Amino acid sequence: MKSFELARPTSLDEAIDLLPKGRGPAEIDDARPLAGGQDILTEMKDYLITPKRLVDLAGVAGLDAYQSAPDLVLGSLTRLARIAADPQIALHHRALSIAAESVASVQIRNQATLGGNLCQRPRCWYYRNESVPCIKKGGAECFAESGLNKYNAIFGGGPSYIVHPSDCATALVLLDATVTKRGPRGESRMPLEQFFTLPSEGSVVRENVLKANEILVQVEVPAPKPGWTSTYLKFKERESFDFAMSAVALSARIEGDTIAEARMVLGAVAPIPWRAGEAESFLAGKPNTHATWKEAAEIALAQAEPLEHNGYKVPLTKGLIQKALRELSGGESK
Ligand SMILES: Cc1cc2nc3c(=O)[nH]c(=O)nc-3n(C[C@H](O)[C@H](O)[C@H](O)COP(=O)(O)OP(=O)(O)OC[C@H]3O[C@@H](n4cnc5c(N)ncnc54)[C@H](O)[C@@H]3O)c2cc1C
Repeated sequence: MKSFELARPTSLDEAIDLLPKGRGPAEIDDARPLAGGQDILTEMKDYLITPKRLVDLAGVAGLDAYQSAPDLVLGSLTRLARIAADPQIALHHRALSIAAESVASVQIRNQATLGGNLCQRPRCWYYRNESVPCIKKGGAECFAESGLNKYNAIFGGGPSYIVHPSDCATALVLLDATVTKRGPRGESRMPLEQFFTLPSEGSVVRENVLKANEILVQVEVPAPKPGWTSTYLKFKERESFDFAMSAVALSARIEGDTIAEARMVLGAVAPIPWRAGEAESFLAGKPNTHATWKEAAEIALAQAEPLEHNGYKVPLTKGLIQKALRELSGGESK
């Protein structure tokens, strides 16, 4: 790791002032926010990035909001372990509770923050290899497109084919979360769904709308509407802690034998949490049967464009969707 300056601001304005003023890649490398350090320090140890300054957010006032009911307000410094352990979150925002609990190991969850989880960089092994000048690091090419792409995107790819690695992002988009960010021009709020950007939109070297001198302040989730429940299913390659190969966040309002409304977001299949809007529309008002679950899964994956080595994600994700619908229906096969 290259040596760097550690700045310890106490206010948001001071922190923003310590971040780069410009917008280009060189300026981005000048200074970066540091939260729990579980991702950024690895990037620095592996020489993927070499910032001259880290701006430690730990002492910054205003990033530690915490309210778990009825609406959820989570400052960006909230540790994932706290989210996973909160019984109110498990009761009202179950998908988030399961997603947070599924992240990495308990040691990592004790240190990792929600802001860092949402802003973490991709795990694609071409990106994570110091010697590969991939498009995510400012190079000309996405080597995953025609290379070893087992873990890469089946939706929304091009010119980069990363998948977004955050479990919490998938669950929070499902739950209609809003984020607040702050930069030199003040604070702004937006739906979390609009926070994440496809590589074909915005800048290919970033995964979200944050500029180099903007800080994610907090995430808010509205109290669930009456009758809605949610779940999060994640498929990992190994039993121990691991990133998702595919994930499904699903919420629904089921009335008797009918799925009145549903919302569905797929994880680890696209560079952003992937909203399955057509499957949502299909499910509204349909009989709550196995045939409906199967058709919804077919519709959700109909537009998938697998690469050479990740075709397995299509049947895998279909299976997870059906399993999630069965779970929200009380586990019965109809
Ligand atoms: C072994 C291992 C397994 C893992 N498994 C999973 C998994 O299964 N699921 C999953 O979702 N994640 C997983 N992760 C990723 C882990 O969750 C993230 O590394 C962690 O959440 C990052 O949080 P942090 O607070 O440590 O962020 P940091 O490492 O401090 O920061 C991460 C990035 O976010 C930026 N950042 C942080 N906070 C802010 C903010 N408030 N405003 C603007 N930018 C900010 C930083 O500049 C940096 O670029 C795993 C990590 C490891 C090491």
